[in-house]
Amino acid sequence: MAKRPIYWRKSSLLEEHKSLGGLGMRNIESINHAMLFNQAWRMKTCPNLLVSRVFSGKYPSTWFENSISGRRVNAASWGARSIMKSVSSMKGGIRRTVGNGEATSITDHVWVGDNRIKFKEHSSFVGTKPTWVSELKCSNHSWNASSVWSLFQSSTARRILAIHTSNRGTQDGWDWSQSSTGAYSIKSGYWFHKNTGKVEENTVSQFWSLWWKANMFPKWKIFIWKVINNAIPTKQNLRRRHIDVSPACVFCGKEESLAHLFRDCELSMRVWKSCSLGINGLAAVETHVGSWVKNFLLYFLNQDGNSGHRVVFFSSILWSIWLHRNECVFKGTKASAVTVLELARQWMSRWEVSHCLNDKVRITTTSPNKAWSWQVGVHSQGDMILIEVDGAWKCKGDYGDGRWSAAAGWRISRSGVEIKTGAQKVLASSPIQAEAMVVLLAL
Ligand SMILES: [Zn+2]
Repeated sequence: MAKRPIYWRKSSLLEEHKSLGGLGMRNIESINHAMLFNQAWRMKTCPNLLVSRVFSGKYPSTWFENSISGRRVNAASWGARSIMKSVSSMKGGIRRTVGNGEATSITDHVWVGDNRIKFKEHSSFVGTKPTWVSELKCSNHSWNASSVWSLFQSSTARRILAIHTSNRGTQDGWDWSQSSTGAYSIKSGYWFHKNTGKVEENTVSQFWSLWWKANMFPKWKIFIWKVINNAIPTKQNLRRRHIDVSPACVFCGKEESLAHLFRDCELSMRVWKSCSLGINGLAAVETHVGSWVKNFLLYFLNQDGNSGHRVVFFSSILWSIWLHRNECVFKGTKASAVTVLELARQWMSRWEVSHCLNDKVRITTTSPNKAWSWQVGVHSQGDMILIEVDGAWKCKGDYGDGRWSAAAGWRISRSGVEIKTGAQKVLASSPIQAEAMVVLLAL
């Protein structure tokens, strides 16, 4: 009979992000898509590379756009087809950056925010509705504000008008909406692909976010994850998977379950009572052992920070109970609460040594900070033009639908004498954009 491994937990849990209670293991399909899309993105954004030229020579040069709109290319190789398929599976994260707007479709492309936009239902616009973004612009490349206001809901219109337009008529480009810089990374692509089509929004668990940052042996972190998720080969768990072992606890003879072994067994209770944490296991028999462990650790993490002694000591006791249990099962050692406590103490001192070592390494490797300042040009005492700028940006309420207002103010002076001042209301969808606009205006 072929040996099949025991699966303690579903792969979907293991692949969940660490902050959501999973182990962050990579899903092979998603990582494959993310890496294929990396190739596609590279060829699209660097058209002068040899590989890009070969690819768009062999296949229609619009292969990227075709893949987004779902049009197949005939007689493509397996590799090329996979690359094109990855583009269509990632299309939700691809955004248009507007230059002259001639290649950007108003309703088919994502170019305002993270979603496609729609025309207003009852618009006062006369004539046929425009298709391309360039049709929303005036001849001098600025927005045709009156048609934008008449075609779209006011929140959408405000966001459109806040898009800065270049007056050089540059071509439309692509960017990746899942990163702040617009550049694609396999990591962001991976999580984007993995979470596409997920209906429920998972809430980030405070415990897990803190736990993975705790200053602790990595094997303990995984061990505690297993305890909380009941993924430990206790006798009860083994019997559930039809493995013929005696159900008796090696310490006391009752049935060995996760809760019994780590908390409810007489021996474990004695250990918990006599350790310096002063935990009474009897008071908690009703609680699920996973939540019991989680609650204590979360309490210690919140109280003492991520390298507190109590967190480590609590974990080291759980670890020592498990080690001692294995000694008794496999080597026939005599069960004793004193041995468990002694083991826990030894592991604590090991942790302390490694902790101090880590601190020492950290001190010796930190180089003194270089001053974050530099000088451009020649410093002169004479004629100096000083431009002071400030942008203000305010979001009204938590609507997130573009109810913001922004203003810019600037002052230019030469050798201390004021030459010009100005202030203006601007349309900007973020504080950074407001600050950038005022610099542009002042210049
Ligand atoms: Zn027992």
